[in-house]
Formats: sequence, C-alpha cells, structure tokens
Amino acid sequence: MTEKTKFVFITGGVVSSLGKGIAASSLGFLLKQRGLKIILQKYDPYLNVDPGTMSPFQHGEVFVTDDGAETDLDLGHYERFTDINLSQRSNVTTGQVYEAVINREREGGYLGGTVQVIPHITDEIKGRILKGAKGNGDVDVVITEIGGTSGDIEGLPFLEAVRQLQFELGEGNSLYIHLTLVPYIAAAREIKTKPTQHSVKGLREIGIQPDLLLCRSERPLSDEIKNKISLFCNVEKEAVIEALDSDSIYEVPLNLHKEGFDEIVVKKLRLECEPPMLDNWKEMTRKIRSPRSHVRIAICGKYVHLVDAYKSIVESFTHAGVANDVKVDIQWVNAEDVEEEGVESCLRGISGILIPGGFGERGIEGKIAAVRYARENNIPFLGICLGLQCAVIEYARSVCGLKAGSSEFDPDVEAPVIDLMLQQRNLKKMGGNMRLGSYPCRLKEGSLAERLYGIEEIDERHRHRWEVNNEYREILKENGLVFSGLSPEGDLVEMVELDSHPYFIASQFHPEFKSRPQKPHPLFDGLVKAAIQLSNASTKQDFQETSRK
Ligand code: GLN
Repeated sequence: MTEKTKFVFITGGVVSSLGKGIAASSLGFLLKQRGLKIILQKYDPYLNVDPGTMSPFQHGEVFVTDDGAETDLDLGHYERFTDINLSQRSNVTTGQVYEAVINREREGGYLGGTVQVIPHITDEIKGRILKGAKGNGDVDVVITEIGGTSGDIEGLPFLEAVRQLQFELGEGNSLYIHLTLVPYIAAAREIKTKPTQHSVKGLREIGIQPDLLLCRSERPLSDEIKNKISLFCNVEKEAVIEALDSDSIYEVPLNLHKEGFDEIVVKKLRLECEPPMLDNWKEMTRKIRSPRSHVRIAICGKYVHLVDAYKSIVESFTHAGVANDVKVDIQWVNAEDVEEEGVESCLRGISGILIPGGFGERGIEGKIAAVRYARENNIPFLGICLGLQCAVIEYARSVCGLKAGSSEFDPDVEAPVIDLMLQQRNLKKMGGNMRLGSYPCRLKEGSLAERLYGIEEIDERHRHRWEVNNEYREILKENGLVFSGLSPEGDLVEMVELDSHPYFIASQFHPEFKSRPQKPHPLFDGLVKAAIQLSNASTKQDFQETSRK
C-alpha cells in the first residue's frame, strides 16, 4: 500500500445474483488496461471460515488460489478478467474475522476490555482491507466486493467497516459503487426506480452515500429515468450507469466502458492514467459472438443441474473455443443417468468427454462407464482430479483385470488403485486440509502432456485427498497406462495418458483454475482441437488415422 492507494467498495442491493462479481471484475479489468496496478478482494458475510466445506449445490464452485485458499467462485472471475493470481488475502469471511478476534481474546489480546462487534470486528475487517493492499508492490486501487445484499443483518459489520474507512481515508481516496436492479414491469409497460430508491435509502441510513450506481436492467434507461434515479438517490446523473443484460460476461466491461464507467471512477478517485487498451478484448468478444462452427462436448458429473458448480470449467471451454474459432456446446450429462440409461444413450454422437472433479460415491459407476466409452471409441477425453481417478480405476478394471476402486467409496475394495494420501490419513478436521494449491509437476519427455504444454515442468492447482496408489503403478504401466506427469520427487502421479488413443489425458490437478480468456489452458485447448477433428472427420476411423499422422 502506498500513500496514494485508492479504495473502491462494491455493494449490491434489491436482489442477489445481479452480477457484483462480474461488475468488480470488469472494473478491475478496465483499470488494469489503463495501466493501473489493482487488487481485488471479496468479503463474504457467512460464518463458514471458507467455502471449502460447503456443497456446490449451496455455493457453486470452490475456486482454489495458488497459495491453496479455498475461495468464493467470484475470485475465479477476478483472475480471469484481470489475469492476476490472487491469494488467501483476497477472500475474507465473517467466519475468519470472528475466528481471529475470538482467538485473540482467548490469548489475552484484549485483556480488561469488552470485545464487541464495533470496534473489534469492524477493526479486524478494516485491517484486512488495508492489508490486502500491502505486499503486492504499489497497488493503485483496491477493489473490495461485499457479498450478500445490502440490508442483510449479517452484512452490517462489513458496511459499517467500509463506512468508517471512507471517513479515515479522506476525501477522494475511496468510492462506493452500488449495484442495483431497475426492473421493467410488463403490465405497466414501465421501468421502475422504486427498488433502487429504497436500496440506496437503506445504505444512506447506515451512513453510506453511493458515489456511483450500476443499474442492472433489461431495457435501456431513458434520460428521464436516469434523472429520476439521480435526484432521488443523490448521485450525479453521469454516475448513474446503465448495465444492460448481455449475452456473454466478457462483453460487460466493454458495455460499461461505453457508458463511461471507468472514466467516472478514475475522475472521482483523481487517478491519472491513459484510456484503456481494449482492442484484443474486443476481438475476443467478437469471436465469442460469431464462432465459425460448433463442437459438442459432454461434461459428465454430479452437479450438472447447477452450472455454477463447474464455473471455471465452463469458462475454460469458452476460452479454448475462442482460440479455435468455435463455440463449445456443453452437453450436461448426469453420471447417475449414465448408470440408469446406459452410456450409449447419454453420450452418442458426442465429440469429446470431460469428467470433472468431485467428492463422494454418487454417480461414480456412470463416470467410469463414460471413461470406458471414451477410451474404447477413441473419443477425446479429459479427466480432472476425480476424473483422473475414474480413468485409472477403469483402466485397472478393464485392461489389467483388477477388482479395482477407490478407498474413498469402498474402504474394503480388493485393489485400491486410488487410496488416501499418507498425509491425509489421521486428519480429523474437515476444513482446509486437503492437498491444496499450486504444486510443481514434471512432464514425461515426448508425452502428449509435454507436447501440449510445450515445457517440461509446470505448476498447477490441487484440491484432493486421494491419489493414485503407488503399489499399482507398475501393473498399470506394464499394461500401457502412461504416467506422463509426476511430482518432482516422483512419488505422486499428477497426469496419465494413453499412447493408443488420439486424445486421452487426465490430471490430478485442476487445470480450469488457470485458464484465461486470452490464454486458454493447453489441456482444454487440446481437448477442443481433438473434438473439432473428430466432428470434422466423416467417420471415427478417419479420425484415428488423421490424428496419428
Ligand atoms: N474426491 C477425490 C479426492 O479427494 C477427488 C477430489 C476432486 O476431484 N477435487 O481425492
């Protein structure tokens, strides 16, 4: 943090799911493209210490940072839009804040004092916001998104903390952005500003006057509507920004820029900078809008009814699609349906199959059947984490003839080809103790993995407790499974692949966390390329021949 570091706070009102994360990411992107050094943070008002123990059904994907923090999926958007690798410090929850304060109280840190929400909890929050700006070189702007909806009881300490901060930081050093909904009421054929007025009124009651309003709307806002919002909410008209629905999240920063969003932010914060460089991003969104062709790839998993559960994977397909001028049409396949309806009826005609990470036994046999279908029919395949484990189990069963499984699902399995990692055996607590974050991996010379990455040593992010059991490595290898990625010491299997297949590869790590809009991940890029080849080939036979050449 420097003397000159500026702070932006983003809150949301009226309803949840308005896209605060995308708004924060868009601002981060636009400021970065203006040459400013930025950092993004998400403050979540729930009591969980982190989302690591929450079900994806509740919370969507758990995004993992390089330093092994299990974080809110908005951090994924932050990283993708800004291409900045964030850390633990960028996701703070009420649980973490209370944990720190209560621990300090037990250690005698407040001896003699009564520990209270104000000032102790709010001080801890302020401290973390300020700390977010430290240790990252000279940060010009810290963007802090407050989760939840203004008016929620649990969010109040955060709002009080940022209210105090504005006062302490002084004039021109901080800015409040409030994201709100301006609905169109079909029966009245009118756009309504009342929910926004009330939302802002609520903020003002607790001492926060927004400087800028981002108005989510299905319809363009007329001058008259903007004037009304401006007058009733006490926000200058030019700072009432229309945020129309858009087809792709990657269009949002461009639309907001057209509305003058970043211009007003830099003006109000008195930042000196250039106009943003947007040409490459524009070209990317043009490609997203008009792909040359389509390719269909199945994601066979457990949480397929909830797209948020696989957010980074979906985005990785968008990125790899752009790089190859195609739109990846994702076919969601529930692994349990594969068990009931048969693999053929669920996956017929598909050009690629991805098995994502996951926990628990449900749908496992369906996933293993999908791996077998991909392997036997030369369908491009990418397995991620649990997907790798399924691929190894399938190979051990079908090719090595073992009664194989994972001890995660059956502690008494005859051949536990996937077993609990040694370090994980005696852990009793559930949160934050998997193998988490970035670890190096050495790629086998001449392997598909090495060709895809173009380098020999990579770093990728992990989140798992089980691993390939080294006792079965020899027999799997003898039968043709290639261990193409290992930990530098050679004791952990990180990647497997098959020589005899056009594209069959799996990783114990999660490549999806490191895919970027303009830098698709090699494993996704490879899958999409192979899928295009397959869908272009008139027969699968053809494909096999062309891809071998
Ligand atoms: N459940 C498996 C494990 O803990 C896989 C985890 C994952 O896919 N992220 O090892």
